[in-house]
Amino acid sequence: MSETFEGDCQCGHCRYRIGGRSLALFACHCRECQKQSGSAFGMAFWIAPSQVELGLGELSSWTRETPTGRRMICDFCPECGTRLFHRQQGRTDLISIKPGTLDDTSALAPVAHIWLDSAQGWSRIGEECLQYPGNPEDFAPLFARWNEGREPAKPACGK
Ligand SMILES: [Zn+2]
Ligand SMILES: [Zn+2]
Repeated sequence: MSETFEGDCQCGHCRYRIGGRSLALFACHCRECQKQSGSAFGMAFWIAPSQVELGLGELSSWTRETPTGRRMICDFCPECGTRLFHRQQGRTDLISIKPGTLDDTSALAPVAHIWLDSAQGWSRIGEECLQYPGNPEDFAPLFARWNEGREPAKPACGK
């Protein structure tokens, strides 16, 4: 099933519209995500994109190496600095939207929390969510849980 995801940055300079299939939404408590968000954790909304349209201003990007030796491209608005997407260099089949930038965040609920070993001490994680001390070796359980949550009869995690 194809879905459409639309959003923009904090100042409105960069807008996006991405068509595709959502794969999983999770929260990451690693130190990189804490720094990036300036907060307690980052959120990642993984999409298998069929179409990516960018409106208005051009994005800037910054690239960092991940602990597993991959290169992650981080796209952000050059005007206000809002992070919009993370992508793995050389991969076009996966884009991670920073879900707080979506126009509609009402239906979002993470299925998992990862890197809990570095979570801030006050964090309380819903029992219903998958939990990992570090990076999941296999993301298949997250994808499966996300799909379960999308069947209308079953409640999504955190809802
Ligand atoms: Zn902006
Ligand atoms: Zn992280």
